[in-house]
Order: sequence, then structure tokens, then C-alpha cells
Amino acid sequence: MIQYLSTTGGTKPVDFETAILDGFAGDGGLYVPEHLPTFSQAQLAKWKDLPYTELAFEVLSLFIDSTVMSANELKTLLAEAYAPFEKETVIPLHPLRSREHTYIMELFYGPTLSFKDIGLAFLVNLVDFFLKRKNERLSIVVATTGDTGPATAYFAAGKASLDAWVLYPQEFITEEQERQMTTLPHTNIYPVAVSNCPDGGDDLDLVIAKLYANKDFKEKLKLSSVNSINWGRVMMQTVHYIYGYLQVVDKVGDVIDMTVPSGAFGNLCAGGLARNMGLPVGTFVVANNRNACLHRIFSKGQFKKEAIYETPSSAIDILIPYNFWRFLYFQTGMDGTKIKHWITEFKQTGNLQFDQETFELYSKGFLSYSATDAQTLSVIRDVYQTEQYLLDPHGAVAVVAVDALSEQLTGKKMVCLNTAHPSKFPEVIAAALGTPTLPIAATHPSIEEAKKRCQKRYSCDHAHLEEALLAAMENNWELKMSNE
Ligand SMILES: *Cc1c(COP(=O)(O)O)cnc(C)c1O
Repeated sequence: MIQYLSTTGGTKPVDFETAILDGFAGDGGLYVPEHLPTFSQAQLAKWKDLPYTELAFEVLSLFIDSTVMSANELKTLLAEAYAPFEKETVIPLHPLRSREHTYIMELFYGPTLSFKDIGLAFLVNLVDFFLKRKNERLSIVVATTGDTGPATAYFAAGKASLDAWVLYPQEFITEEQERQMTTLPHTNIYPVAVSNCPDGGDDLDLVIAKLYANKDFKEKLKLSSVNSINWGRVMMQTVHYIYGYLQVVDKVGDVIDMTVPSGAFGNLCAGGLARNMGLPVGTFVVANNRNACLHRIFSKGQFKKEAIYETPSSAIDILIPYNFWRFLYFQTGMDGTKIKHWITEFKQTGNLQFDQETFELYSKGFLSYSATDAQTLSVIRDVYQTEQYLLDPHGAVAVVAVDALSEQLTGKKMVCLNTAHPSKFPEVIAAALGTPTLPIAATHPSIEEAKKRCQKRYSCDHAHLEEALLAAMENNWELKMSNE
């Protein structure tokens, strides 16, 4: 049975269920499996024609053994999680006509139209499964740059085992994203609009980390998080890399490249781990917008926090890509002491320079790029005009990176991850296409529907968020207890 440890080395090994229900590890680090399972090329070849949920079953079975849940329970959970997806294939791949060997992986056919649905469909259902079995309840708190919030709210809505507190930086998300969180009728969803967040979603991540550090409170309120600090997200996200690979290769064993629009590095951490497990990916391209923290990390070994810019690809307006620590842990010998040392130095100085050896260990097989706003808008227009295919601003950042790095890439097949549906960002699309009337591809029935519904939300200034949440959650919990 695989046990789970903390990236910063300060916890005893725990089982899978504990790692999932805790969210953060007890020492404030991130949970990681004590070793990474691997698969052979022969095994990969056997998976070639599996539908997405069946492939997911095979991959997750490497992490979850039958003492945790039976094969049938896992299969049922997966079937239920992906049933609300719009496409039967769950994740279609679309070949671009204007760029040779380039495929767009469409990760946005879940109910809230972004790639967050992929990880959260499974994780929220998994948390619910464990809680029901233990006959317990939890409060989930998440911070969002616009997409985690809607997906968490959707999958938690109406579940008797859960309350979901969804914190979003008011000034940094679109109205469409806000309505996805505020128009659900269920009483167990608490959307909180937070104003005056100088650093956007990063500020909210820090508040959650503080709530966790308050041990009495955490125990009393049974707090958890399904942000990509939760191992369940990263684990689930390894599957779409393997699925995408198997869809585009002529023959299993062929090497391909993949490009990922990255913010907190949760998605790409999973990609890197899938490669460590045995997936033949030559180069991963880390695609940043102007908020280029990961680009600095992968091009010069520098982890530096800079001021935030608001860009058209707002879901990746992130300053501190915390899942990079998790990936670094695996690349540098799984040594919690080292990771803790680096994190401490970063917290003290906001600027960490990795030594050459470490830089080489983690950056091998990666290229990176920082796309400007103008490049992002122009590639949306260009691809739409040449082949009537509408990229969302995040998929566009990926395509900009591929175009810019084409000379360093060796012409292998390329899969670009497109992480959201364009209808979540109508203003950006209108600006890119230069027309006030949006094409039908920039709309979605669920977004139109949400415009007609009433909104319910709480609001709070960032300066008072922690104490307000403590009070609100405590009262709510007591009310619920006395109702039962
Ligand atoms: C969250 C998100 C990303 C970034 O994913 P990370 O795991 O934070 O790197 C990219 N695109 C969209 C649309 C997202 O919602």
C-alpha cells in the first residue's frame, strides 16, 4: 500500500484517505506518495484504445489499492464523475490545420467549462465517498482565479457531507465565472467575493494556509481543501496526459511534445510526473503570460515573486506556483529537508536562485515562454480567421509559446492543452476578434442560462477575511449541528 509523506518532511506517513481528506499535510507541506508508480511501454500499449474513464481506472489503480476502495467502487465513482461532461469522449483532440502535427486537447467540456472540472469531478466525489463511509462532514475552502471555484461549487452542490466556501478575488475574474459560483440554489455553497486583493488569487491561497495553521480551528471545523495542494487533483490530472498521448501517436513508444498554459503548476506537475511514470514526452513547454514566475524558474533557475499584471488569460495570473515544490521534490531526490530549506529562503527573500545542479535536475525536458497580451490576442484572431477555430485566452498562450519556440522544438507531434471554453472570457474574445458581436463559438448555453438566475454571495474586504471566515464558519457549523 502506498503511504503519503509531506514535501517538507515533517509528518509521519499517512494512508491515501487521510492525505485526501487533510488537503495540506500537517506540517504545512504538500502530500506526495512515498514512491511514484511506473508503467511499462507494453502496459501503455494495452491502454491504447481505452475510453477516458477506463484509462483513468487503470492509472488510478496504480495509486489506490483495493484496501482503500474496491475496483467496483472506483469504477462507479469515475463513471459518476464524468457523466455530466458534454462530450462522450470527455477530452476530444482537435488537429489544427494551420500548424503541422499540432493538436488542441480540449479540456473544457465539463459542466463549468474549464480543465478544473477534470480534477474536481473526481476529487469532490472521492471526498464525499470517504466522508459518507465514515459518517462525517467537512468544510472545504478553496481559493480561485476563476475556474476552481465554479467547478468545486458545481460538484459539491447538494452533497450532504460537505460545505464549500469558495473565495474569489472580485476584481480578477470575469462576470461569467462569478455567475457560475453565485447562481447555484444549494444551501451548502458559500461564494465569497473578496475585494482589494493586491496579488489576486495568491492572497487567498495565503489566507487558506493560515486557516489551516490554526490547529484548534481546523480540528473543530473539520477543514479541508480541494485546491491543487490536494494530491487527488494532481493524481487525477496525470490521466489526461496519458490519454492525449495515446490519442495522437501512430505507435506507442513514439515521443511527442506537450504545451501547457501554467499558473500554480498543478496541471504541469501532473504532466511531469506522468513522464516520470513512463510516458514518452520529449519536451514539456511551460507557457506563461506576462506573470512569468515559471518562465524565470525554467529559463534561469530563479524563483522570484514580482508584481502581478492583469492579463487576458486571468486564470494563470499567479505569482507563486506552489505546485513547483511538489515537482522539485521528485526531481531532487525526495528530500523534505532540502525543500523546506528552499521554501524558507523564498519566504524570507522572495527571490531564490537555484544552484546549477538543481536547475539541471528539474529543467531537463522543459522549455518555457512568457506570452505578451498582444501575442495572445493576435493568435486568437489569426487561428479563428484561418480555420474558424476559437481558442480561449489560455489555449492561446500555449499556441503562442509553440510558435515562438518552434526552432527549438524538433517537429514531433505537439499537443497543446486548451484549458477553458472561450465563453468564459467574452470580452477578451471580442477584443481579439475586433467585433462587438461574438461568434456562436464564443457562447455556451449554460453561460446564457446563468445570466437569468438570481445571485447569492457574501462579500468581504481582504483585510478582514481571515477573522470573518473564522466567525462565519463557526456559526454556520453550530447552526447545522443544532439543526440535526
Ligand atoms: C487553473 C487554470 C490553469 C492553470 O493550471 P495550474 O494547475 O494552476 O497551472 C490554466 N488555464 C485555466 C483556464 C485554468 O483555469
